[in-house]
Amino acid sequence: MRELKNLFDNNQQWIDRHVQNDPEYFIRMSKGQKPEYLWIGCSDSRIPANEVVGLEPGELFVHRNVANLFVHTDLNCLSVLQYAVDVLKVKHIIVCGHYGCGGVKAAMENQQFGIMDNWLRNIRDIYSHSKNELDSIDDQEARFNRLVELSVLQQAHNVCHTTIIQNAWSRGQPLCIHGWVYDLAQGKLHDLDCCISSPDHLEKAYLTPQTFYLNGNLLKRTLSRFLGR
Ligand SMILES: [Zn+2]
Repeated sequence: MRELKNLFDNNQQWIDRHVQNDPEYFIRMSKGQKPEYLWIGCSDSRIPANEVVGLEPGELFVHRNVANLFVHTDLNCLSVLQYAVDVLKVKHIIVCGHYGCGGVKAAMENQQFGIMDNWLRNIRDIYSHSKNELDSIDDQEARFNRLVELSVLQQAHNVCHTTIIQNAWSRGQPLCIHGWVYDLAQGKLHDLDCCISSPDHLEKAYLTPQTFYLNGNLLKRTLSRFLGR
C-alpha cells in the first residue's frame, strides 16, 4: 500500500483541476521558468510564499529557512541567490519575515534548543547591536515584533553585501532588494520601507572593489557635470 495516500490523492486532484482549465499547463511548465522575483522567507508552514502574493508556479523563485536568515557563509542561500540573479535574472528580491516567528522568539529566550542555537546566534547579534532600542520597549510582544523587523532589514542588507548583487549592479542589471514582514494574524504583508536598488544605500565598508570604483566614477561624472567640466 502506498504511504501517505491522501497526499497522492490530493496531487491527482490538483493535476485534474489544472488540466481541466488549461490542458497545456504542465507541458508549458516543463519548458522552463522565468520568475521575476526571488522570495527569501521563513520555513514556517503558515506562510505559503506563492499564495501570499498571489503568484502562480513559475513566477516566484523561493528560498526558505528557519527565521529567513541570509548568512554570508551559507553556501545554500548563496547558490540560490546566484542562480536567481545570474541565470534567471530576477528583478526583485524579497526578504520576508513574519511576526510571531518561532526562530526569532527562540533567539530571545534564555534556553538551549540544540544545533539551531548556532543558526539563531545571527539574531542574537542583531539584538546585541540594537540593544538600546530593543530594551527601551517595555511591551514584550512589541519588542519581539521590532526584533523581527530589524532582522529582516539586516538580512536585506546581507543580500546586498554579496559580490553577487554588487557585480549585477556593476554590469547595469536592474535589481531591487525589499524588506517585508508578514502578519500571521491578518494575512497581511507590511512593507518596511526598505527598497535597495543601488550601492549608494550601502556602507562603504561593504562595497566590492568594482562597486567602489563604479561609485567613484559616478561621483566624478556627477561632479564634473555639476561643475561644467
Ligand atoms: Zn518564522
